[in-house]
Formats: sequence, C-alpha cells, structure tokens
Amino acid sequence: MIDLEALRWNFEQVRKKIDPGVKVLSVVKANAYGHGAHEIARVLEDEGSDAFGVATAEEGMELRRGGVQTPILVLAGVYPGQLDDLVQNHLTPVLFELEIMHRLEAEMGRRGSSLPFHLKVDTGMGRIGLRAAEIDSWLPQLDRLKALRLEGIMSHFSQAENVKGEFTQSQLNSFNRVIERLRSQGHELPFIHLANSAAVLTLPPAHFTLVRPGLMLYGIYPAPETANEAQLKPVLSWKTRILQLKRVPKGLGISYGRTFVTSRESLIATLPVGYADGYHRLLSNQGAVLVRGHRAPVVGNVCMDLTMVDVTDIPGVQQGEEVVLLGAQGGETVSADEMARWAKTISYEILTSISSRVPRIYNDSGEA
Ligand SMILES: *Cc1c(COP(=O)(O)O)cnc(C)c1O
Repeated sequence: MIDLEALRWNFEQVRKKIDPGVKVLSVVKANAYGHGAHEIARVLEDEGSDAFGVATAEEGMELRRGGVQTPILVLAGVYPGQLDDLVQNHLTPVLFELEIMHRLEAEMGRRGSSLPFHLKVDTGMGRIGLRAAEIDSWLPQLDRLKALRLEGIMSHFSQAENVKGEFTQSQLNSFNRVIERLRSQGHELPFIHLANSAAVLTLPPAHFTLVRPGLMLYGIYPAPETANEAQLKPVLSWKTRILQLKRVPKGLGISYGRTFVTSRESLIATLPVGYADGYHRLLSNQGAVLVRGHRAPVVGNVCMDLTMVDVTDIPGVQQGEEVVLLGAQGGETVSADEMARWAKTISYEILTSISSRVPRIYNDSGEA
C-alpha cells in the first residue's frame, strides 16, 4: 500500500529544509525505490518537483511513457547508442567520460543541434565522475564543447550523514573549487547539486541550486543521526493474508532443511510471500511480521513463494487474516530499517527489492 498523502508530506519536509530559491530533483530511480516510478513522479510533479532523477535512460523513457513532463536527469550514465532515446524523450544525461562526451559532441554537431548535460565530478566517492583532482587535464577539453551544453555540475557524497566528518567537508571543499574553476572559464552552471537526503537534512552548505533527495521522500531517514532533522512519514506498507493456519505437534520441522523444529505444539501460519517477492531469504528464523497487532516470528527458511510464521502466542488468529510485513498494525511497527537489520542490509535495498509480482495499491485518502 502506497500512501500518497505521506509522499506529499515528505516532499513538503524537503522544501522546509531548503531555501526558497533552491530547486528539487526528486530521485525516482529503481521504480521510485520500489514505490512505482511514474505513479510517484506524477504526484510529485503536481506537488512542484522541479525535476526527476533516474539511473538509466530506460527508466527515463518509462517516466515519459507514464506522462511525466518535467526535466529528467539520467544519473548513472548513458552509452552513445542511446542518443536517439535521449533526444526523443528529452532526457538530460549526466556525463563523466571524455570519450563518450567527444562522441556525443561529434554526433550532435553532425545533426546541427545541441544536447544539454550535467557533468559529474568525483570528489571522493570513488565511483563515476571526472576526478576533481585532475581538473587541469579535463577542463580544457570541456571548454571546447559546442554541441554539448554544460547545464549543470554535480558530485555525490560518500558519507553525507556525517556532516561533521572531515571527509564530507573535504568533498564539499573540493566541489567548491571545481565550481570556481568552471566559473572562471565562463561556464554559467545553472544547476549545481550535491545533496542527497542526508545532506538535505543536515548540510545546508551542500544545497547549492538544486537538491537530490531520494530516500527521505519515501519517509525513511538515511541514517539514525538524521532522525531529529525532520518528521518523515513512511510511504510504503507491505501486507499479505494468512494462506493456511495449521496446528502442528511438538518436534515438527518447518520448511526446507528443517532449520526450525517446533519446541511445543504450535500454531503455524503460512503466508503467500517469499524471496521472489523481495522478502529476503536472510529473514529466515530472523524476521517477524505483525498479526493482530502482535509480532509473529518467521520460522524456518523463507521459500521462493511462501513463508511460515509462528502465531501460537497470538489469540484469535484466523485464516485469511491480514498480516503486515512492513509497516504498522495496532501499536506495533516493522520499519524498513528493522527489516534491513534482520536481513543484514540497508533500508534502500529492502524497498528496492520488493518485486514486480507484489501489486502496488495507491491510497490517496488525503486528496479531497
Ligand atoms: C540515489 C541517488 C541520490 C538519492 O540518494 P538518497 O540517499 O536516497 O537521498 C542522489 N544522487 C544520486 C547521484 C543518486 O544516485
């Protein structure tokens, strides 16, 4: 269940953290962190999101097919063979490879038209980007571009939640030096951006002219230390129903490999959800779900399509009853962070793992 009112609320919290002149690029890559890309983007577009960020050109095209009109930035790179897709769909690529820049420059020159792009600089993430430290070697080549129009510059933090950390500061300083050099060469740079959710929440000097929140839009804090910086509401909850309820004797093995054996007569509920839905196999004998507002532990190995939970201690459980995998029920909550700890991962991976087999239901109670 996707709560669109919570999404709108979280977008407002982004706005509250930034100066009025700063624009917002909402990151909706990976199917909007599992929430449904064009559905989420359309709502945020109505709320005034200035742009969207996707990882790939394919994701950008999906947003266009879904009716999104706002500028779309392709964050994680493009190949020269995708030029037609970019042009036809008005997608703005992030570029960081001189070889590809030269090839796109030549091709756009041949067509007699131009292509806006944002430049990615690596200030210490150690991932994509032209290395800030090597600016003397790449800046002259950038100055020669004509058909490619440098419209923005960006970088990415390695540890943005650690505002006081020296490394974050060094990345910020390095980015500022690159901006100065580009400006001194006459580049106007309408879009300057560095802030992910953690930096939106905790690091105003990194806001520049545009911010790039992802996770916080979905109502999740990027790190525990950012939790008192805004009040966010989780957008997604994940529910299922009990498929079979079975009273079993003491000493019975549950699921593949018999990794759980009942220590008493037990009431075991089977749920129609498994690792193929994105309910991680690492939750086997680790996770818990909510039934009637109580926690029921996952018992035995999570299967591809089915998972068993022990509801022996919960009174009155019925077959067909609602079960919350992620979200709140009664006074209890299973958060994405908690599930991530069980599955030895991070909330980002919990959300983006929920597979396409799981129907997304959009709840717009807040809309009049
Ligand atoms: C995913 C991503 C973001 C959003 O990060 P959050 O931590 O989810 O806010 C921002 N910028 C880039 C380049 C990204 O890839």
